Amino acid sequence: HPYSQDLKQQIRTVRDWPKTGVNFRDITPLLQNPSQFRKLIDLLVHRYQSMHLDAVAAVDARGFIIGAPLAYALGVSFVPVRKSGKLPFSTVKSAYNLEYGQAEVELHTDAFAAGAKVLLIDDLLATGGTLLAGIELIQALGAQVVEAAVLVELSELGGREKLAAAKVPVFGVCAFN
Ligand code: 5GP
Repeated sequence: HPYSQDLKQQIRTVRDWPKTGVNFRDITPLLQNPSQFRKLIDLLVHRYQSMHLDAVAAVDARGFIIGAPLAYALGVSFVPVRKSGKLPFSTVKSAYNLEYGQAEVELHTDAFAAGAKVLLIDDLLATGGTLLAGIELIQALGAQVVEAAVLVELSELGGREKLAAAKVPVFGVCAFN
């Protein structure tokens, strides 16, 4: 996409954060730049406006930043996929592996109509564990994940392949090795 190189240039790499040896891809410079943030949302609106989505679901917390304006622009539901313990109503939960230990994501049981077509959004795809946990929950509620979209794809960590095994295509706006 013509915008993707511009957008990639707005991602800052922070060496050795949160620990030595990790290169953290920081999306905040892009968010601070109004024309670039608009380009990101416009690019996603263009890609998804004819897919007849019913909902945009997004992962707590950086996924919300992209998912909410996208849902607003598409005129579809916004559904937060939250870290465990945050949602007040009845929920379903799915555990996933982090580099050290485990985490859990949660969805309200009434988040989707049966058969809803859902786009799942996060800021970044690494191993795919987070998005896969979200996909499992959405599917468990009887909805369909048509695609998972991220601003940044770390292409050497196998995330795309992991989601392909779950039959969910991935759209990455930009990629790093
Ligand atoms: P995965 O579950 O695919 O291994 O990790 C992806 C999750 O971790 C995403 O929710 C993402 O927000 C977070 N994450 C991991 N590494 C980075 C990074 O370098 N930059 C950002 N912005 N998020 C990251």
